[in-house]
Amino acid sequence: MDAVVKERKKTKVSAGVEKKLPTRIKKVGIIGAGQMGNGIAHVVALAGYDVALNDLKKEAVENAVKLIEKNMGRQVTKGMISEDDQGDALKRISYAPDYKAFGDCDLVIEAATEDESVKRRIFMDLCPDLKKDAILATNTSSISITRLASTTDRPEHFIGMHFMNPVPLMELVELIRGIATEDETFGVARKFVQSLGKRTAVSEDFPAFIVNRILLPMINEAVYTLYEGVGTVESIDKAMKLGAHHPMGPLELADFIGLDTCLSVMQVLYEGLADSKYRPCPLLVKYVEAGWLGRKTKRGFYDYRGEVPVPTR
Ligand code: NAD
Repeated sequence: MDAVVKERKKTKVSAGVEKKLPTRIKKVGIIGAGQMGNGIAHVVALAGYDVALNDLKKEAVENAVKLIEKNMGRQVTKGMISEDDQGDALKRISYAPDYKAFGDCDLVIEAATEDESVKRRIFMDLCPDLKKDAILATNTSSISITRLASTTDRPEHFIGMHFMNPVPLMELVELIRGIATEDETFGVARKFVQSLGKRTAVSEDFPAFIVNRILLPMINEAVYTLYEGVGTVESIDKAMKLGAHHPMGPLELADFIGLDTCLSVMQVLYEGLADSKYRPCPLLVKYVEAGWLGRKTKRGFYDYRGEVPVPTR
């Protein structure tokens, strides 16, 4: 109930900002139309910005737009936005078949798979098609902003803009400066995030920043607890929901985030901080190797193919 009230307040802020958009940003490009890319496109379009959305396949963008329509429809039903807000926002989203479509964007947010080589390739290919003063942001959960910035022609206009999942509901966006990020870039990014009705927390550029530095080792420990037979999937999630008042159990949350993303964040922590306490649990590795990535592939620590999720161990 509390969450619903909060969401309503927040969305009213979002829907009302159209006339006072930060002048520097008018059109936003988004790369990756997965669960984060579609959530970011949702809130950005609702806040009055034009959005160009890109993914490897057109079908992924079409599916993302269908999901955005459905999720906005839910907000209409709850009275959080009007049908006109929904219609206008959907009209602002266009498909970007290639990076040339980002030529008139003032800000491009990369939200592709959590894999450094994928992100490096994207930035290298993207830069020649961008306006000179366009700002580049990455939604990475863990990878060094400074290192990603160094693959671009504009490290001073590069920033970490880490949205939380699900984007329309979560209030926080972490902002992370790389070593070269200019104050002006940071200021524009912060205003932009605030114009979406979100609040910011600033993190230094160290592996996994603040939220995931704390959250992911907890999830990894829950997987170890399962791996070592201390508890079943059900008992571990129940214990943390009832015993620590977490809204979701850690294994349920891991499935929600995506087990590939969880593993990738743990690997970045392990390698980046060179500390064995961050070693990814072999059971997490096994699930990812099986392609059981959680909700997005319908199987992870739970099987989502039936009416109710069933533990897989
Ligand atoms: P996802 O698997 O749902 O989506 C990733 C999308 O990127 C896919 O649609 C894929 O086709 C696309 N993609 C891959 N390579 C691409 C390329 N070269 N060009 C264009 N599109 C490409 O993953 P997600 O959960 O949306 O995560 C995306 C990013 O957001 C990652 O960096 C992740 O760490 C970060 N993130 C995730 C969460 C979460 O809870 N899942 C939260 C915050 C941040």
